[in-house]
Amino acid sequence: MRVAIIGAGPAGMAAAITLIKNNVRVTLFDENSGVGGQIYRNLKNQSDRNVRVFGSDYFKGRYLLNQIEAASKTPLLILKYRATIWSVTAQKQVSWSVGGSSFSQQFDAIILATGAIERAMPVEGWTNPGVMSAGAAQILMKTAAYAPANSVLIGSGPLLYVVACQMIEMGKPPIALLETQTRQDLTAAIRQLCFSAPMLTYLMKGIGMLCTLKFAGIKRIKAITNVRIRSQNKHHIIQFNKGNTEHHIEAETVLLHAGVHPNIQLTQALGLMHHWSNENLSLEPVTDDFGRTTVQDILLAGDGMKILGADAAKQSGELAALALLMDTGFAIAPFDLSKRHAQQKKYFRVRKLLELLYPPKNWHSYPSDTTIICRCEEVTAGEVRHAIKMGCAGPNQLKAYSRCGMGNCQGRFCGLTVVNLISDMIGSPAGEVGYFRIRTPIKPITLEEMANHETISD
Ligand SMILES: Cc1cc2nc3c(=O)[nH]c(=O)nc-3n(C[C@H](O)[C@H](O)[C@H](O)COP(=O)(O)OP(=O)(O)OC[C@H]3O[C@@H](n4cnc5c(N)ncnc54)[C@H](O)[C@@H]3O)c2cc1C
Repeated sequence: MRVAIIGAGPAGMAAAITLIKNNVRVTLFDENSGVGGQIYRNLKNQSDRNVRVFGSDYFKGRYLLNQIEAASKTPLLILKYRATIWSVTAQKQVSWSVGGSSFSQQFDAIILATGAIERAMPVEGWTNPGVMSAGAAQILMKTAAYAPANSVLIGSGPLLYVVACQMIEMGKPPIALLETQTRQDLTAAIRQLCFSAPMLTYLMKGIGMLCTLKFAGIKRIKAITNVRIRSQNKHHIIQFNKGNTEHHIEAETVLLHAGVHPNIQLTQALGLMHHWSNENLSLEPVTDDFGRTTVQDILLAGDGMKILGADAAKQSGELAALALLMDTGFAIAPFDLSKRHAQQKKYFRVRKLLELLYPPKNWHSYPSDTTIICRCEEVTAGEVRHAIKMGCAGPNQLKAYSRCGMGNCQGRFCGLTVVNLISDMIGSPAGEVGYFRIRTPIKPITLEEMANHETISD
């Protein structure tokens, strides 16, 4: 059996290691220049000195990286870096482009471990130069050892604190955190609190980060709404409301973050079933507890299936690999499955708490008419609303009306905003609005790459 694994984050790496231990041949793809995914990005090249900056959670990934490195010296593992997957079919053909050429190869099974993407936060001014996502700032820190100075972070979620603490360690503490969560969110989350080992670990981590922010003297303003960013010459004035009062704060860089959601481009292109999560206000692929999908021998793992964090992503990679082995006739010890499965359930409870504590807010899901929501095609929220008034029936038809979702990102960043806007306009639940029909290539491919296409046989 030859298995393709797409995405070399904790989920993809753990799935690969589990399969290789059972003598299965694996090709592990990632568009990045190495393994690690979002959390362990560029870990291989970090000095020990950076342990302080990125913390023990980051360096924990070395264990997985070392195992992948050892396996790559065997004929069982082929690593394909800088390989952008632009098509996966239900017949298990995988197509990718790398270095000016493109390739297709037939596999017996596929595990999609493509992770999460940050939710767009289309407030007024979010497309101005110098305004970016908190995740983008973290990528800069991990890959270029660069942290922007005098920044303000806006939004909510654990990643907001992670990035702020990493900036402090890099000597570029942010000016302030403008947080969207409210006292009611905290109360709702406390009601759900039930103790387990993963829950305690998360709570301790959270308290640790809040202490770091406090000791560094970082201002935290909570329950803010109605953010507008005015920018001129690398200088931003952020206006926001707290209660009925309007405030403003100035910054050189603005970092937005409203949580993450599964990256569903490939699962949508494959036509897999999805459901709307009312907790995370996003679409999630439908799978069983092991990551099996409606297409046989195509499985999902990690945050691309359900946002549960890095430790759970590793577990779910192992679970998907074990399920695949079972389905294809390998003998698996039942203990292996039940132990991991029980652990996974604990991560679900942690996630539930985080969803209650840091819910995405309605006010930034329904941007003002002049705000651009599709950055690739520069379509504003007003144009979307106008199209709906003219009779546009849903996200897919919106493409014909406005080109929204038809640019380079193929709706990856505007998809959820479009769903929310349409749901608001027509008064239907977001889960009934539908989604862009995602076509391959899901990522841009050049004519040169198409011309140099090659089919690889095993
Ligand atoms: C910007 C960002 C920063 C984050 N930082 C942290 C953090 O500091 N700490 C923390 O605990 N959690 C962090 N998270 C959450 C964290 O990413 C996950 O919990 C964990 O990494 C999930 O692991 P995964 O293996 O499911 O996916 P990921 O680690 O995201 O790995 C997915 C991989 O798939 C690859 N991929 C996706 N699509 C394609 C394609 N078409 N072709 C080829 N390759 C593809 C990506 O390049 C990526 O390497 C972050 C999330 C985001 C979005």
